[in-house]
Amino acid sequence: MTTYVWDYLREYEEEREEILDAVDTVFRSGRLVLGPSVSRFEEEFAAYHGRAHCVGVDNGTNALVLGLQALGVQPGDEVITVSNTAAPTVLAIDAVGATPVFVDVREEDYLMRTDLLADAVTERTRAIVPVHLYGQCVDMAAVTEVAGRHGLKVLEDCAQAHGARHHGRLAGTMGDAAAFSFYPTKVLGAYGDGGAVVTEDEQTASNLRRLRYYGMEDRYYVVSTPGHNSRLDEVQAEILRRKLRRLDAYVEGRRRVARRYADGLDGTGLVLPANAVGNDHVHYVYVVRHPERDRIIERLKSYGIELNISYPWPVHTMTGFAHLPYRTGDLPVTERLAKEIFSLPMYPSLAQDVQDKVIEAVRTVVAEL
Ligand SMILES: *Cc1c(COP(=O)(O)O)cnc(C)c1O
Repeated sequence: MTTYVWDYLREYEEEREEILDAVDTVFRSGRLVLGPSVSRFEEEFAAYHGRAHCVGVDNGTNALVLGLQALGVQPGDEVITVSNTAAPTVLAIDAVGATPVFVDVREEDYLMRTDLLADAVTERTRAIVPVHLYGQCVDMAAVTEVAGRHGLKVLEDCAQAHGARHHGRLAGTMGDAAAFSFYPTKVLGAYGDGGAVVTEDEQTASNLRRLRYYGMEDRYYVVSTPGHNSRLDEVQAEILRRKLRRLDAYVEGRRRVARRYADGLDGTGLVLPANAVGNDHVHYVYVVRHPERDRIIERLKSYGIELNISYPWPVHTMTGFAHLPYRTGDLPVTERLAKEIFSLPMYPSLAQDVQDKVIEAVRTVVAEL
């Protein structure tokens, strides 16, 4: 049997009755689109964050796209983010016609170097998208300070940080708005695609509700453009309602897996994840680092372990972004990381014996290098 970085089947067996009940509840409700499950999930997800509004959307990428548009980002604006992220962060900026501007990341925790933000601001800068990568938050005091000084909007990319805390505050409560993904692998995952934007601002929330519904306020009448069809699915919303009640338990499960790795891989020479000051990490991905990454991954295959790299290519070096004025060499830490990092299996239902097999195999492979 092959071990992968993520697998939901064990969790499904544990939660199957509740998931099937969620599906049945929606199918019997008579409301398949933007019905009571979406509204209730929005209320509950907003309440979890202590925020006034949550607007459910179809996926995390569109949570970012609509979030940027709702905050007033326009074609021609610049938006500052990082290149060490999932490509959708940058695709979303591109999709609204804005230009992504990259700052490098920190050597210790792979998060945005906020000390570089001020120099990245120009007259065209409209927003900052800090990415709470791998499960822990960017230094938000620094982001907020630069944004405040230059009149910029802040859209947190929380796709990897459900339940993470920064100096006690939940990810998604520190910017003007926050975009979440409920892609199945995420800390709060649906059984398909889903996303949401959380905000305290009424105007931003009503912009989002219009943007996800063809630019309409009432049925069939477009009041503004752009307009999308980006609704959160009713079935996914009902499943997410059930799973939201367990979010803190999922996070605790991930922390348990992380602690076992930290103990089991101590002294191997692998660089293990570091908690930045003030951060409660939720370990969306368990990223380790070693200069011989490619050989390690290759050899682990003979142990039946198929690992992943999050992410193998910095966004600014991909041909799809060749229109941006970045070349290899521009973001040295981001580029070096892409060659040295890899991810170990991480999900709350990971069985201890499976994890121990991974730890043993990694120890052996690294010792034999
Ligand atoms: C998953 C992810 C997204 C995109 O979410 P989708 O639901 O897959 O569209 C955006 N940003 C980051 C950092 C992600 O990890």
